Amino acid sequence: MSEAPRPPIRITHHKPYLISFYAGREPYTRISRERNWYDDSAMALGTAMYAIHSGSEAVVYDTFASIPQAGFVRGYLERQGVRKFTVVLSHWHLDHIAGNEAFADCPIIATALTREALARHKADIQAGTVWGPPPIKPLVFPNILFDDHLQLRVGEIDVELRRRNIHSIDGCVALLPRDKLLLAGDTLEDPLTYMIEVENLAEHVRELNEMKRWDIARILPNHGDPETITKGGFDTTLIDATIAYVTRVLGKAHDADFLQGTMEDYIGPEAAKGWIHPAEPYREVHAQNLKLVHDYWKDKPLPEIAR
Ligand SMILES: [Zn+2]
Repeated sequence: MSEAPRPPIRITHHKPYLISFYAGREPYTRISRERNWYDDSAMALGTAMYAIHSGSEAVVYDTFASIPQAGFVRGYLERQGVRKFTVVLSHWHLDHIAGNEAFADCPIIATALTREALARHKADIQAGTVWGPPPIKPLVFPNILFDDHLQLRVGEIDVELRRRNIHSIDGCVALLPRDKLLLAGDTLEDPLTYMIEVENLAEHVRELNEMKRWDIARILPNHGDPETITKGGFDTTLIDATIAYVTRVLGKAHDADFLQGTMEDYIGPEAAKGWIHPAEPYREVHAQNLKLVHDYWKDKPLPEIAR
């Protein structure tokens, strides 16, 4: 991988203390002609990371999908006067931790479950065999762990980290009470959630419903429509859309024609209301979601929420 980040990174100053960095969903020179998770997943879907900063301090939420991307963000913040960095990881997936190396000299906070997952997959991540290439080597581990929640402060800005079992069991979201903002990681994705731990979908819905009761004005996810993110994020209806999608998928999981259901069949009503924004690269994610749900749930009674 070359040193310049590609594709280019879009920078948005949302608040005097909050910046988003977004890459993907636009043509650029691929890092490889072969199929790989960086070009064909992270950049095809579009990926964001965030920085909460005050004076010479910053908390960065995730480290992007490559070391050059993370290095770019660090350099940008250093030019704004930031000297002290703390990293918070949203979860263990490669598109969010690949740039840890650029912050190897800093505290890196994550849930204990994130560290466990990284330790379990370490050899495969470094060999490029978890999701295929590119490998992440060396893999830099978090060095400050928490189980359920952790309170941080960046200057005058409070940051509340909360663990969520949504999308992945080790999820960590960040609440910014000052402006009621939620950095949602991959717990909420526009237009639809990327399913991996399909055995936990009922628990995901339970925790999403709990999240709906939090005091949130806007949501900034790590994957989603770049214009919406640039303009300040999503309404809490992104949570409703996610619940509707997961519930619909589970509810139809025993139907004979289940695997034929298109993205439109599953997100149509919420897209029509403008809660989410259908995007072509998610067609493949949706098909993969149905396949995973089918393989796991086809012979099992469906959970209560699907009935
Ligand atoms: Zn992701």
